[in-house]
Amino acid sequence: MPVSLAILVVSGIGLAFVHEIGHGIVCNWGESNTYFEFAVSITGGGEGRCVGYTGNVDFYRAAGGLLASTVALGIAFGMTATSKKQFWLSGNVKPALPIALICLGFGHLLAATLETFAFDFYLGSQVAMYLIQTLIFSTLVIATIMLHRSRAKLVEHRHQ
Ligand SMILES: [Zn+2]
Repeated sequence: MPVSLAILVVSGIGLAFVHEIGHGIVCNWGESNTYFEFAVSITGGGEGRCVGYTGNVDFYRAAGGLLASTVALGIAFGMTATSKKQFWLSGNVKPALPIALICLGFGHLLAATLETFAFDFYLGSQVAMYLIQTLIFSTLVIATIMLHRSRAKLVEHRHQ
């Protein structure tokens, strides 16, 4: 499924930007002398740093994953709720985009949790990254199976 894989990769990079922007908003919110810089990789990873921040560190750490998951899940459920109106999306893109966004949304939610409550573990080891990737791909498999089941049902009903 090359189309859905491409959508997953592109959505992953886009949400990595949103994640870093979430940290950046908190970094600059109400602060006068802060400096935020970030980088996003083509694998959908990202890193950033906020210099001069004096606010709540937990809120700063949570903000990236929270913004990215809110945006991802918001768009996904918005698309699901208005699926009949998306005439500009082709048949392959229509299910692949919300599925990718749901998987990545849960991934960013886990990232926000680990970043906030287990920060040393999150940054200190690769295990946290593997955990997030495992969550993303198991959600992807489950969502794809569910989609194929509902498609199979649709064909069944047409033949009755
Ligand atoms: Zn982050």
